[in-house]
Amino acid sequence: MAEVTGSSPVPPTSTARYDFQLDRALTPDDLARIEAEMATSVAADHQFILAEYTFDEARSALVRFQQPFKIEIMDDLASAAATAGLPPPNVTTYQHGEFQDLCRGPHVESTGKIGPFKLLSVAGAYWRGNSDRPMLQRIYGTAWETQEQLDQYLWRRDEARKRDHRKLGVALDLFSFNEVSPGSAFWHPKGQRIWRTLEGAMRELQDRRGYQEISTPIVVSKRLWEQSGHWDLYRDNMFIIESEGEEFSLKPMNCPESTVIYRTRTRSYRDLPLRLSEYGRLHRNELSGTLSGLTRVRHFIQDDGHIYVRPDQIELEVAALLEEVREVYAWFDLPVEFVFSTKPAKALGDPALWEKAELMIEKALRDSGAKWRLNPGDGAFYAPKIDIIVRDALGREWQTATVQVDLVMLPERFDLTYTDEAGERVRPIAIHRAIYGSLERFIGILVEHYGGAFPFWLAPEQVVIIPIADRHHEFVEAGAAILRAAGIRVTIDDSSNRMQNKIRMAQEQKVPLMLVVGDKEIEAGGAAPRWRDGTQEPATSWETLATALSARAAARTA
Ligand code: ZN
Repeated sequence: MAEVTGSSPVPPTSTARYDFQLDRALTPDDLARIEAEMATSVAADHQFILAEYTFDEARSALVRFQQPFKIEIMDDLASAAATAGLPPPNVTTYQHGEFQDLCRGPHVESTGKIGPFKLLSVAGAYWRGNSDRPMLQRIYGTAWETQEQLDQYLWRRDEARKRDHRKLGVALDLFSFNEVSPGSAFWHPKGQRIWRTLEGAMRELQDRRGYQEISTPIVVSKRLWEQSGHWDLYRDNMFIIESEGEEFSLKPMNCPESTVIYRTRTRSYRDLPLRLSEYGRLHRNELSGTLSGLTRVRHFIQDDGHIYVRPDQIELEVAALLEEVREVYAWFDLPVEFVFSTKPAKALGDPALWEKAELMIEKALRDSGAKWRLNPGDGAFYAPKIDIIVRDALGREWQTATVQVDLVMLPERFDLTYTDEAGERVRPIAIHRAIYGSLERFIGILVEHYGGAFPFWLAPEQVVIIPIADRHHEFVEAGAAILRAAGIRVTIDDSSNRMQNKIRMAQEQKVPLMLVVGDKEIEAGGAAPRWRDGTQEPATSWETLATALSARAAARTA
């Protein structure tokens, strides 16, 4: 019946797949039947028996059993060996019960040792990924050591599907995409409110930490990109336009323009560190086929920053940056890990400066008390760097922020200098840093992390007020005005829908706080909070509520 094509070894806690050529499409019922067969095999506790065959023995057996795909794999092995001047290799098989298959192994001892498993899905897959070759049916499965691990895995998988930001973005009316601008989100009012809240929180942090915000043009002459090196290396990814015989591009990054501002005046050692932050609107001409939701886009905004420092200031500045990153990610309850990538084999710049910079960065990491690890030799050719990895509520890891200590690129290419204590003109170091990274991508991550149930401080609609009857309307309007004056984002649902529908809608939109107001509440002079998690609080005055809610939002916790 089935033609079986090459197996992948199954690590103890992982998913695997197997391709079959069948004369009809498999259905979910088939998967259940295959699982039942697998359970029988596990109960029988068959040994996995290793055997080795010469190439010719194995190949003629496969011809006998009519296994064309495996014969093709064998022939490839033989021709690879021939290219290396070697004879065709021997091959190994594993057998359990009546089933024998080409396999390198290793395997568990016997089928009885296989932990809880589940077949997940079936999908079409071309043989060797080639659309000119036969379409096979690929079954995905997973096996774990304990039932609890399997259940956890299935929950995460199911949850990730439900939380897909492309789906939730539509359901919660946050953003949309339109073919008139591929890979560029259209932010709806609610999405834009999340955007502004994130931006506002970052601005508050940057003001507090001595950044100065700048804004630079989007359309920039190719002359600047020639100087930065992007014209040579990155041109295919840039949107190029022409005006009055001169070529321009939409900026794909902010760095070079930050140096334009740096160079407008003579800088002294006393001016450093100079922390220039920018919400840069960037365009990158990604292939339309690679675009996906908010994670692969052509247009995005980065919370960028370039910090110009003296070499002796690297350690303190990096330490401050690590602190900033940890403060920011604590707002979202996203645990952070730093990955420190050091000098690659091919690097530019003074080796002594590299060594000094790396020592200082490592000291800052050690002293931070944060979780970090070393990734030797993987830095940029002009900069040691720290990547920031966060772990979301489903245990998935995302790289978001990055800190690059640029020893060469911006300083040399743009001839940046400052006057030192002795009056000499010397090179500063440019630290590139983004904390959210791309705001688009970051919001995509947050939508999935929270499953759309944003914490109070970040929720686009923080409070929905539902008046029970028309006569409560005036009281509700006055209350909403008090909350809005305290900076709370309030909607009044005065639609003609029935009460129960209004409550259900607020729940579906995952609004953190609902206030249902009727005669009883008016008598109490306020409203009774009903939180998204089901918690109910006694009625309080609008003023008391406004104070409590704005304190809650300012704390940026739940
Ligand atoms: Zn930069």
